Amino acid sequence: MIGLLTGGAWVFYFADAPTLARDLISLNAHPIAYTTIAIPTSTTFFFGGFAREQICIYACPWPRIQAVMMDEDSITVGYRGWRGEPRKGSEDVENGADMGDCINCMACVNVCPMGIDIRDGQQMECITCALCIDACDDVMEKIGKPRGLVDYMALSDEPLERAGQKPRNIWMHIFRPRTILYSVLWSSVGIMLVFALFVRSPIDLSVAPIRNPVFVTLSDGSIRNTYDIRIRNQSNDESTFEIHLNATPDLLLKLEGHPDDRLQIDAQSMKLQRVYVVAPGESEPARAEHTDVRFWVENLADGARAYTNSTFFGKGN
Ligand code: SF4
Ligand code: SF4
Repeated sequence: MIGLLTGGAWVFYFADAPTLARDLISLNAHPIAYTTIAIPTSTTFFFGGFAREQICIYACPWPRIQAVMMDEDSITVGYRGWRGEPRKGSEDVENGADMGDCINCMACVNVCPMGIDIRDGQQMECITCALCIDACDDVMEKIGKPRGLVDYMALSDEPLERAGQKPRNIWMHIFRPRTILYSVLWSSVGIMLVFALFVRSPIDLSVAPIRNPVFVTLSDGSIRNTYDIRIRNQSNDESTFEIHLNATPDLLLKLEGHPDDRLQIDAQSMKLQRVYVVAPGESEPARAEHTDVRFWVENLADGARAYTNSTFFGKGN
């Protein structure tokens, strides 16, 4: 069910969600919609149901990013080796050394969902779930030792703790030039994304010239170039769009099937339109090798416009 919800959410992001939901339920959606939902659904089911922590360890980029961002002042789950070692059953203890607080019960290892031993030091696989902290604290309470053998800690505090002093205040670990820089950078990215969302154009326009052939010579000697124009109406209202060409007056624009150069486009929808640009045979664009042109569309409801540049190819002689 979770796989289905995530797969569905992904597809709804790229379509009009209420319409697609209705079509999916009534079995009227396009087969591509069902296929696209099936792929993330099945992969999520497999990854979450069977591969599980293998995905965290081998596929997820986050441990690598986290490892790069951390330093010895970072607060993370760790083992106070100077307190726990030598652990029960170790060679040193067998040879008569005083035993540390770790009784080698393996509770911290047994609860770890990633199957690691935190006593071996910080490891990339650790998801800082803190289950090992709780497990070890329970053990420490039972054997009458202080809690915190496995705990949140910073490696830079180790010398202080070994000397019997208190670790530095946690706020000194949190507010450092490095963490402030990270916060500023990540916040800036977030602010830029929100800003881009609010200033995005309500129209998305792209023009793809058809270059096979580059141009066609018509029976009256005029030169014709063909373009596929995609207009996405990103507003929430159905609108009429008028297509224009900014170029020399010699170039004439014609829309296939729309003599008035206007297109009706549903809200949040995209329309593909074939467009012809024709230059009379003796005109400058027809004789030139190429001429820069600019297509623009206008939403007749609110006057919003979008532009894109392209090229008109002539005979070149
Ligand atoms: S914090 Fe969680 S993942 Fe990390 S060592 Fe402890 S139990 Fe394992
Ligand atoms: S739970 Fe604590 S005492 Fe037990 S093995 Fe882990 S660190 Fe040692």
